[in-house]
Amino acid sequence: MKDIYLVGATGSIGMQALDVIREYKNEFRVIGIGIGKNIELGKKIIEEFKPKIISVQNECNLNLSYEPIINFGDEGLIKLAEYQSENEMLFVNALVGISGLNPTVHAIKAHKNIALANKETLVVAGDIINNLVKEYNVKLLPIDSEHSAILECLHGEDKKDVKCLIITASGGAFKDKKREELIDVKKEDALKHPNWKMGNKITIDSATMMNKGFEVIEAHYLFDIPYDKIKTILHSKSIVHSMVEYNDGVIKAALGSSDMHIPIAYALRYPHHEKLDCGEKLSLYDLTLDFKELSTKRFPCLGYAYLALEKGGIYRAVLNASNEAAVKLFLEDKIKFFDIEKIIYEELQKDEYKDIEYNIKNIIDLSYKIINDILERYGD
Ligand code: NDP
Ligand code: MG
Repeated sequence: MKDIYLVGATGSIGMQALDVIREYKNEFRVIGIGIGKNIELGKKIIEEFKPKIISVQNECNLNLSYEPIINFGDEGLIKLAEYQSENEMLFVNALVGISGLNPTVHAIKAHKNIALANKETLVVAGDIINNLVKEYNVKLLPIDSEHSAILECLHGEDKKDVKCLIITASGGAFKDKKREELIDVKKEDALKHPNWKMGNKITIDSATMMNKGFEVIEAHYLFDIPYDKIKTILHSKSIVHSMVEYNDGVIKAALGSSDMHIPIAYALRYPHHEKLDCGEKLSLYDLTLDFKELSTKRFPCLGYAYLALEKGGIYRAVLNASNEAAVKLFLEDKIKFFDIEKIIYEELQKDEYKDIEYNIKNIIDLSYKIINDILERYGD
């Protein structure tokens, strides 16, 4: 029996993780649930799974049918991450944005294995997280289709034989548009991802291709492969979720439907591949696979991820925070699509961040400072 602590339970990944847990209810017991602002959905989940400890983003009265421990805000997430149980513990982080970092840190320090959807954690603090994972001897498993595919392709292999990782990118909502056609696009268009149904932030990150920049950084820390051996490629159908090329010319690929239940189940039940009714199966007939070069001219945000890497540790926090604020503003109709990349670039140009010591506290403080400054500057 594994004890599950799921934060971000009301979101896209959170709800799909619950489907997997329902299907394997003899293996999992839900001990902790973290919800954000969607109280109605959160209450339904809580009443179904009856976790012992709950965290809610804002203070409120949940009026539950039983009496669990309830905490609120960022502190509530930390208390949930620290809560102990007697079985093997798995902390499933399905939070979005920088809010996911501190809960991961505390869960590792509380000796929990981590199934990580919150990619922002690795983007801003991958090296610190890896050190903690080693120090506390816990497992870190990715919940991201590309990284789950790479994990499959590396299974049983020797890393010194790896020529490169090849991360596929669908191209997002505007994959067939030229840059000049994007000037006045609306959030409703950007939110129409052709293959995946995901939360709003990552759907915009896919349209700007910032998501792929994040995934390169994520891959580096998850698999300990240098950046010059991590490539990205356009693959519009999202059938090949990613590949590993070996030195002898063999390319291993993991194929599947665009259904996150599958990578979620792999992370929760690693390394097993038993039957999964909640995951959509891929039909191999009539498949055509297309691959094209992914250009940073067409998608500057991918280039900005590399720019942040060049500028050093703390600039990954600058990259993430400026993106987080810009995407929020775009989703609130306060800026245009191209302003997202403009805001990120402007922030990365600032030298004032370069002497900030790279540690978890400074990453979090700086992230919220940048987010709040940008929201104030462009908000009304
Ligand atoms: P969603 O926006 O759908 O869900 C986010 C979840 O986090 C919700 O439960 C939300 O609560 C909760 N939340 C947000 N802010 C806070 C906060 N400050 N305190 C407590 N809870 C909070 O996002 P996704 O599920 O799409 O994405 C989650 C993570 O997974 C992201 O990092 C994303 O990049 C990554 N990912 C997602 C994929 C997908 O298919 N969706 C694929 C690969 C990676 P509420 O809704 O109740 O307000
Ligand atoms: Mg992905």
